[in-house]
Amino acid sequence: MKTKSDVVIAGGGLAACIIALRLSENGLKVAIVEAGEQICGNHTWSFHRTDLAPQDYERLRPVVVHEWAGQKVLFPRFSRSLTTPYASITSDALRKAVHAAGNIETIENTKVEELRANGVLLDSEAEVEAPCVIDARGFATDDALRLGFQKFVGVEVELGRPHGEEVPTIMDASVDQKDGYRFFYVLPLSPTRVLIEDTRYSDEGTLDFEAVHADVLAYAANRGWVVKELIRTERGILPITLAHDARTYWERIPQHVAPVGLRAALFHPTTGYSLPMAVETANLIAGLGQAVTTAAVRKAVQDFALRRSREQAYFRFLNRMLFQAAQPRKRYVVMQRFYGLRQSLIQRFYAGRINRADKLRIITGKPPVPIQRALRCVSETRALAGN
Ligand SMILES: Cc1cc2nc3c(=O)[nH]c(=O)nc-3n(C[C@H](O)[C@H](O)[C@H](O)COP(=O)(O)OP(=O)(O)OC[C@H]3O[C@@H](n4cnc5c(N)ncnc54)[C@H](O)[C@@H]3O)c2cc1C
Repeated sequence: MKTKSDVVIAGGGLAACIIALRLSENGLKVAIVEAGEQICGNHTWSFHRTDLAPQDYERLRPVVVHEWAGQKVLFPRFSRSLTTPYASITSDALRKAVHAAGNIETIENTKVEELRANGVLLDSEAEVEAPCVIDARGFATDDALRLGFQKFVGVEVELGRPHGEEVPTIMDASVDQKDGYRFFYVLPLSPTRVLIEDTRYSDEGTLDFEAVHADVLAYAANRGWVVKELIRTERGILPITLAHDARTYWERIPQHVAPVGLRAALFHPTTGYSLPMAVETANLIAGLGQAVTTAAVRKAVQDFALRRSREQAYFRFLNRMLFQAAQPRKRYVVMQRFYGLRQSLIQRFYAGRINRADKLRIITGKPPVPIQRALRCVSETRALAGN
């Protein structure tokens, strides 16, 4: 069986859905093919409001489920409240928006077997034909990317009594520093509901789910929170970029494929978060108007990705300092120092838009890592070769 669409997207995760919503506003007919039971999976995707341009935030607002006026961090040496607003969207909200959009067709429980120049072949042997084929199948390993990992288990719990938290705790690093830089991330979802994540910046891309899940519950108990009900869990092993040869990465992607999202390595190098870049990518593609073809999308996304990769060289250097110069148990010192900097700089850092003065400011002063080890982190070529 063959169906036709203007755009077909392989993979129905975050990037696919944000892009599809944007294109449907332009009147294009979009088909999303998702291998899982349903599009959007099971996530809470969060971001700093300052990561997005105000007009982009307004566009995303219908799927924003939580908004907070500020955020805080805790380290062994100090704690700090920041006035940067924070927000979350959920899989449920995004899924509903996609299903409600008139011209998006979702084909769930169906794997894309092959991406072709003029469409996709499905595991049901059906085909979706489209002049624009987008690959949004999530992260793919490649030796042109050298990685550390941000891994976590998140547990959403309903408590017996109000927790009293007004704003998200982005990092509570006042905890035992096992398995690399470790902190708890706490999102207060209602007066009695919290999402608690035990996060580790680790060299190993493996996760002992049961053990980390138990650590989350131990943290809750330690905070004096009595868990009445376990609502939901999520887990992630996100890529943190230590080195990236973006040109080689893109040369390896077949010309008839236009990748987006993690598939295009479009994520923040230090957090692995990709929502802001998915929004920027959606803007780029929507900017093509009705001329949305695979070749046009690929060119627009590739140019954007290569430019971002050049701009992100400094972030990758900092990541190498964190992962390779600092001892795993001492990694928190790097972040503790960073959070002593101006709030506006911290905002630009998360938005991936730091300027020359910020770069200088971040490394000025007493280095939080041994200088000899820091110097060994300077060369990205060396890091790519695995030395
Ligand atoms: C638990 C978790 C929490 C996160 N929280 C945040 C956050 O708060 N903020 C943030 O910015 N980022 C967050 N991230 C990081 C990142 O933004 C997400 O991983 C994001 O979902 C990546 O978007 P994507 O569209 O590139 O890939 P995905 O959302 O992973 O989507 C890829 C989709 O492709 C499907 N697929 C794969 N192969 C096929 C195939 N052959 N055929 C059909 N479908 C296929 C998969 O089933 C999946 O649904 C989080 C990641 C995880 C895992």
